[in-house]
Amino acid sequence: MSDILVKALGYNSHARIYAVTTTDALNLIGDRLSYFPSALDALGRVMSMGAIMGGTLKERETVTIRIDGDGQIGRIIVDADAHGAIRGYAENPHCHFEYNDFRLNAKATIGSKGMITVIKDLKLKEPFIGYTPIINGEIAEDFAYYYSVSEQVPTAIALGVLVDTEGRAVVSGGFMIQLLPNTPEEIAVEIENKIKSMPTISEMLSSGFTPEDIIKNISKDAKILSTIPVEFKCNCSKEKFAKGILSLGSKEIKDIIDEDHDCNTTCHFCGSEYHFTDEELIELYNDAKKAGK
Ligand code: ZN
Repeated sequence: MSDILVKALGYNSHARIYAVTTTDALNLIGDRLSYFPSALDALGRVMSMGAIMGGTLKERETVTIRIDGDGQIGRIIVDADAHGAIRGYAENPHCHFEYNDFRLNAKATIGSKGMITVIKDLKLKEPFIGYTPIINGEIAEDFAYYYSVSEQVPTAIALGVLVDTEGRAVVSGGFMIQLLPNTPEEIAVEIENKIKSMPTISEMLSSGFTPEDIIKNISKDAKILSTIPVEFKCNCSKEKFAKGILSLGSKEIKDIIDEDHDCNTTCHFCGSEYHFTDEELIELYNDAKKAGK
């Protein structure tokens, strides 16, 4: 089954429920850039969170999640839009720990100190930027905290990735439940108890639950609003990399020409390679000089 995001209303329309799978998107990037299991697990969680957040947006809006923890993986970045396009990147994809307890793994991989930044481009003058500290690096709780503090929406989140012995994701996905304003207290308690009694998201997905099944499991009366295909999409291009090289300034471009001659650049998100010949670099060098850089 390909990746999908399902949006629904549940608990007598008092709660918004989102459920997503990101297995294919995660494996695509994991295979291309040879992610180690702990890094793949971490990136998968953040990509599922990104896809869900994308689902909360409208039309041309986009969201970028940035996680800067003190764990070995370094910075994680995920971009998503309202139409199921996601891409993700981890600074150190070759990061792995053998802890059986995923909590210890998350702590070592992502870290337990640091910041989460959410940048939403809502096509207004200024982007919306929200920050919260990392709580435990397990991502789900970190983002539940983010929503309650930064956006003041009571939120429950579950995210999970199951990696096989070959280092590929068997499943990757998650769900999010948000209470709408004026939800009666007993419904909040009911949802809380329901979540506690449910299997983990990885267990549900690996036993064959679809996102829709998960939503129905969360709320029997759930009304499905929409189902969106989720896909890995990168908007990198040679032109964007040329701009990146240009911004290094003439001195540094000269160094590249003198030392390396041709230059290969690789997109950290999708692994695409862009080649710049000496002639192209000289052109960029001249442009940089002209611009006084
Ligand atoms: Zn790319």
